[in-house]
Amino acid sequence: MPNYFTTWGSIRMSELTAREKIFGVSPDSFLWCMHCERAYPKAQVRIDHRWGLEMCHYKDCDGDAVLDAWDWSRYRDGRQSLPEEPETGVTYPLYD
Ligand SMILES: [Zn+2]
Repeated sequence: MPNYFTTWGSIRMSELTAREKIFGVSPDSFLWCMHCERAYPKAQVRIDHRWGLEMCHYKDCDGDAVLDAWDWSRYRDGRQSLPEEPETGVTYPLYD
């Protein structure tokens, strides 16, 4: 895959993410990626400048930050032992 990803975190907290523009504003500050099963701050989505897409924060993941991402609170629903703020880089599996 060509390495055209160059920047992270260009979404300011006062701006809506692409996901929020589609699904509505979320109070969550973290997203969980169903491709790599890791969480990241939604302000740190990775911008694919070739297409102007918001992607999963993690460079080794090809998930996007719209359809491939869940709000952390949705992932955490039914998993109340998990922290309100997830750790970055940690795998949180969909199926235990
Ligand atoms: Zn990912």
